[in-house]
Amino acid sequence: MKNLTIAIDGPAASGKSTTAKILAQKLGLTPVDTGAMYRAITLKVLRLGIDPGDEEKVVEVAKETEIWQKCVDGVLKTYMDGEDVSEAIRSPEVSEKVSIVARYPGVRKVLVKLQRKLAEKGGVVVEGRDIGTFVLPDADFKVFMKASLEERVKRRVKEMKEKGIEVSPQKVREELQMRDRIDSSRSFAPLKPADDAYVLDTTELTIDQQVQKIMDELKRRFGDDP
Ligand code: C5P
Repeated sequence: MKNLTIAIDGPAASGKSTTAKILAQKLGLTPVDTGAMYRAITLKVLRLGIDPGDEEKVVEVAKETEIWQKCVDGVLKTYMDGEDVSEAIRSPEVSEKVSIVARYPGVRKVLVKLQRKLAEKGGVVVEGRDIGTFVLPDADFKVFMKASLEERVKRRVKEMKEKGIEVSPQKVREELQMRDRIDSSRSFAPLKPADDAYVLDTTELTIDQQVQKIMDELKRRFGDDP
């Protein structure tokens, strides 16, 4: 069943990206990281010196930006206007502003169109906030991953440290809380589990365990060869 479409949603640092990448590898599917797309638009907005609060200008930027993703040696890369921005989009400055940019329906319309196009032939694991509810409501399998705020802070601090970036846990906590609040309360396609999502709390789970749980659920639904 190579053309499976899997949607993975959840709040920031709930383990979506890592899980999506491992699942994609195991199942021979293509990963799509939609958060990276919102981050790329935000990076461009900041580089141009545009105020992220200026909706009209931000939407204009989104319409004029070419975004693409490609797996290179098993690593998912994000390109903005031809430039590899995979690292730059993870900066604290982008993380702080991305939810403001992602609130604008005009920005979302541009990116949702691209996301649906990437998923139209199936064979994808798409991760984000609104994939199961809005982008791909007919996905074959929807997962909603969650974890306690404390655990998510711990994971994000560790991840940044591994990249050589020192961040204060307090600042990370504030940023995650702010993003959760904006992402869940926006009127257009907010963060929430789809009614038919498999909800997985990863607070007490290792990455291997969370992937295994999803694989078990996939087997239960689709048989031995999903
Ligand atoms: O997944 P990640 O944490 O990199 O996403 C960054 C931000 O992009 C989220 O906090 C959210 O504001 C936005 N986003 C979104 N819809 C998606 C994916 C991400 O609004 N499908």
